[in-house]
Amino acid sequence: MKDDRPTLAPSVSAWSAHEIMRLRADTPGCDEVLHFNNAGASLPPGPVLETQIDHLRREAMIGGYEAAEEARARLEAVYESLARLLGAAGVDEIAIVENATRAFDMAFYAIAFKPGDVILTSSVEYASNYVAFLHMARRGVRVDVVPPDRSGQLDVAALRERLDGHVRLISMAHIPTNNGLVQPVEAVGALAREAGVFFLVDATQSVGQLPVDVKRIGCHALTGTSRKYLRGPRGVGFLWVDREWIERLDPVILEGHAAEWVDPDHYVVRSDSKRFEVWETNVAGRLGLGAAVDYALAVDPGRIWPRVRDLAARLRARLNAIDGVTVRDGGVERGGIVTFTVSGYDAEEVKGLLRAKRINVTVIRERTTLLDMRRRGLRELIRASVHYYNTGEEVERLAAEVGALTASGLRHAH
Ligand SMILES: *Cc1c(COP(=O)(O)O)cnc(C)c1O
Repeated sequence: MKDDRPTLAPSVSAWSAHEIMRLRADTPGCDEVLHFNNAGASLPPGPVLETQIDHLRREAMIGGYEAAEEARARLEAVYESLARLLGAAGVDEIAIVENATRAFDMAFYAIAFKPGDVILTSSVEYASNYVAFLHMARRGVRVDVVPPDRSGQLDVAALRERLDGHVRLISMAHIPTNNGLVQPVEAVGALAREAGVFFLVDATQSVGQLPVDVKRIGCHALTGTSRKYLRGPRGVGFLWVDREWIERLDPVILEGHAAEWVDPDHYVVRSDSKRFEVWETNVAGRLGLGAAVDYALAVDPGRIWPRVRDLAARLRARLNAIDGVTVRDGGVERGGIVTFTVSGYDAEEVKGLLRAKRINVTVIRERTTLLDMRRRGLRELIRASVHYYNTGEEVERLAAEVGALTASGLRHAH
């Protein structure tokens, strides 16, 4: 096996132009597009792409099962890499599944909710998670949305006031899908631990963007995905569950990998996090995820974070200076997600006009984060999400193109 890891000086906190150039040269998509959709799916680096293609080729040449056997050690190493990235106590706490949503479902539906139980959550939750809450509400569970403070982040004092004996779960996104804000998950984690309430963090947008340490957050379970800030393949996600809680969670779906069929009428559920998995899987995707995690570890989340923050802050400042453009991000601490609206333009139009110039942004619709969008009276947002491989010049170029849209005056009044 070739050594795929980029050779970087890990202790250097400043980024040299040379290093950025090297990382960009390692990212084939950088020659094609200005990619500001890293919160949707990042451009993968070469080793992620090659790891997947190599494995697909092995599957075709020697057979899928045989190729998986050959890759067994590397497949096990994916769990070790994830455990290291997240600060897990061990590989037994990690499950690899199809995406962050399924990771979330496997933890969420495994909680033995009773009628009268309360779920505490934030006002900026992702649709799929909130639909799961509503699904459980049909069985008599109450969903209580903790309001944001004036900055837009979850009001920790308001959450503390709601923590009573009925609260069965605290669940929230670390970074919402439609806002640059970073939620104060450590403060919530401390309260959850004190109250002994299960705390499930949706870290889909934060893993790969900033250092995520499950022990520092103080959560009991955490979900993430491969394709976003981790720069891995699509169709892979993961779940971390605190060792102490794994056997208290009863998966709603079990099969022959999550549980062992030991007698005609008897099965034994696995005692580790693999109880949340399913046997058949995209092996090339898993290996690609492993390559992405190793790549992120080599680049170092502690260094990625300040660069992502700086680039995003620069983009917000440039956009704010344009007449007719309103930046919509809130919060105290802000990361790589930049959201804005352009007066007189539909978000889809802006996206299309930028796309014609090979600049990728995306559109966030009301239903993606319904509570938050309704609260703020927004129907849609344009989301430009930066990553460390983006450059200051790319940020300037994006802002200039948005500025050019509005320069000729506002097209139509809404
Ligand atoms: C994208 C996203 C998800 C869902 O992740 P999938 O991998 O698509 O299932 C969940 N939560 C947040 C905050 C997201 O941005």
